[in-house]
Amino acid sequence: MNSNHITEVSVEKLYKCERCGNMFLTLESAEKCHPDKHCETCGKEMKYNDFWTKCEQCRIALKYAEAKHVKADDYNEPVFANDRYYHDIDELLEYYDGEWDKPDVVYGSVKRYIKIDDAESIVFAAEESVMFDDEPEVFSKDAVAELKNFIDSWNLRHMYEYFEQDDKLIVDMGWHKEKQPKQKGYQR
Ligand SMILES: [Zn+2]
Ligand SMILES: [Zn+2]
Repeated sequence: MNSNHITEVSVEKLYKCERCGNMFLTLESAEKCHPDKHCETCGKEMKYNDFWTKCEQCRIALKYAEAKHVKADDYNEPVFANDRYYHDIDELLEYYDGEWDKPDVVYGSVKRYIKIDDAESIVFAAEESVMFDDEPEVFSKDAVAELKNFIDSWNLRHMYEYFEQDDKLIVDMGWHKEKQPKQKGYQR
């Protein structure tokens, strides 16, 4: 019997990646499968399957360093702390009045508007609601432009503004600079 399509495989050792179960013949390739992961900034070990390249602390630090900073006294727009909206700094002060867990820094906000901005899809939906055999041009480009103009002026008249957290704007509350009240303690 002559089998020229068979090759002998002899395996002395196998390497298994415990993180996924894949098997390898060499240690090098096994190590490349799901290697340890380290923060590219501080080198701290991260979870091997972490999606980020920097650890959470370094990401927060970077965001803080890159953000614009303003003092609470100079900021009159809504602020966000812990994903909660405050109409202004005074409302935040009221909320945290007497609390011990006041954040030192909070996020500023950016103003946005809700508006309708898609005349084409409205016209398209209307056209699609009827099936024609000969596919006529139902609404002309001018007709679409007319609707767009109308929507633009409607948007201006019914502008609904809202505020979104601005991750790039940090409001320093300044509490940490307040003098700590002297503690009545023992002195020996
Ligand atoms: Zn693996
Ligand atoms: Zn780090």
